[in-house]
Amino acid sequence: MKHGEGTQITVADETTIFVTITCAHTGHPMVGRLVWDGQAFVLIAASKQRPGSVIPDEGKHWRQAVYRVHTSYRCPQCHASSMIQCGQCKALCCWEESWQIVSCPRCGQSNRRQGDIQSLSGGRG
Ligand SMILES: [Zn+2]
Ligand SMILES: [Zn+2]
Repeated sequence: MKHGEGTQITVADETTIFVTITCAHTGHPMVGRLVWDGQAFVLIAASKQRPGSVIPDEGKHWRQAVYRVHTSYRCPQCHASSMIQCGQCKALCCWEESWQIVSCPRCGQSNRRQGDIQSLSGGRG
């Protein structure tokens, strides 16, 4: 193994992490659950944030890894089948392959899909 070459992936010791995903259509935050499958963190489900529930600690622990979305995943609010990371504020929001562009519900930035998500911040829920 050489330093400074290729992609260096730091695998977190957690097997499940929670992130905040904001629905692009309703603007409501959700808690997304990602499970480590041995190679990647896979987004398997999202649920609406209930009042009083803990918000994942955003912006504190950035994990570099491979992130995927499970084929059965659907946003519970708009039924989008994927997520995108805002290029400006790094927030996550809903994404559907058929969408050309999506406005970030957090900061208003217009985003296009630009490859896979490589770093996420979240907590253990
Ligand atoms: Zn949505
Ligand atoms: Zn944004």
